[in-house]
Amino acid sequence: MSRVYNFSAGPAVLPEEVLREAADEMLDYKGSGMSVMEMSHRSKTYDGIIKEAEKDLRSVMNIPANYKVLFLQGGASQQFAMIPMNLMKNRVADYIITGQWAKKAYQEAKLYGTANAVADSSDKTFSYIPDCSDLPISKDADYVYICENNTIYGTKFHTLPDTKGKTLVADVSSCFLSEPVDVTKYGVIYGGVQKNIGPAGVVIVIIREDLITEDVLPGTPTMLRYKTHADADSLYNTPPAYGIYICGKVFKWIEKMGGLTAMKERNEKKAKLLYDFLDHSALFKGTVEKDSRSLMNVPFVTGNDELDAAFVKEAAEAGLVSLKGHRSVGGMRASIYNAMPIEGVEALVRFMGEFEKAHA
Ligand SMILES: *Cc1c(COP(=O)(O)O)cnc(C)c1O
Repeated sequence: MSRVYNFSAGPAVLPEEVLREAADEMLDYKGSGMSVMEMSHRSKTYDGIIKEAEKDLRSVMNIPANYKVLFLQGGASQQFAMIPMNLMKNRVADYIITGQWAKKAYQEAKLYGTANAVADSSDKTFSYIPDCSDLPISKDADYVYICENNTIYGTKFHTLPDTKGKTLVADVSSCFLSEPVDVTKYGVIYGGVQKNIGPAGVVIVIIREDLITEDVLPGTPTMLRYKTHADADSLYNTPPAYGIYICGKVFKWIEKMGGLTAMKERNEKKAKLLYDFLDHSALFKGTVEKDSRSLMNVPFVTGNDELDAAFVKEAAEAGLVSLKGHRSVGGMRASIYNAMPIEGVEALVRFMGEFEKAHA
């Protein structure tokens, strides 16, 4: 068996320890005589798994009691509709457009009401986070929406926008659990887990209880109401049971590693290695303004498409895979999520150095 260093943006690398544990429990989960995949989601054993996953996430993120944790499906993309359907009481919301995911959410919201783009960084191909200290927030906005870490462009909000008292809704798909977070600053925090937590198929929504009401837009399907899932503790229908089980293992892994403070230190150390190299390289350069850089997704280019392609190919041959940039940006992107060991980033930087020498 040989494992590669996988820099995929998502689905992405998982902690090897977690995969081994899951492998050990594959045929017989703790004496149940069956795999978690084969188990009724109404069984006592599974109830224990989902409850413990929620408890561990609450502890890792320090989630206050007045927030619900929901394990849902439909990808982060389904939240683009669920958020306006459930929260747009006045049918007005403000969106900060910092990349394709924010833009898609904004366009979806337009199906349900007035969505205003109150800030936008498309003028420089989303290479920075706009100043959000004094935005023209709409008086009757139901919420202000951000994509906190922009997976494709490699930018991150290092300061949350001043929403002038409006509810903040954040897509944290690609920075979930990468550093400590003050949950009380948000009304809704959500993300697909396939970037930084677990396998594709699970979306986690952390939502303040007062935002969960029956007052949703007319025609909102039962399955797309937060209340449906909150009232049923995420067991209204069959949940993505196996995926939640793996997420639970990842929460325990994070706790064991020292929690989110330790995760942040580790992530900063990894990102610094790569950014320092980029800042001093004669061949490669980062594409993002320094004060907007993501700890998780690091896009870079040589400025020459053929060299970029050669780099991606040769890196893969050296066991450094999925470094091709998003199709809309080109170049390269290294996603260095929680589960990427520092050795992986060291190997990448070493390889970049060798490639640079060979092509200088
Ligand atoms: C990947 C991604 C999405 C889309 O996720 P799906 O689960 O495929 O719908 C949305 N937002 C961000 C920030 C992402 O990285």
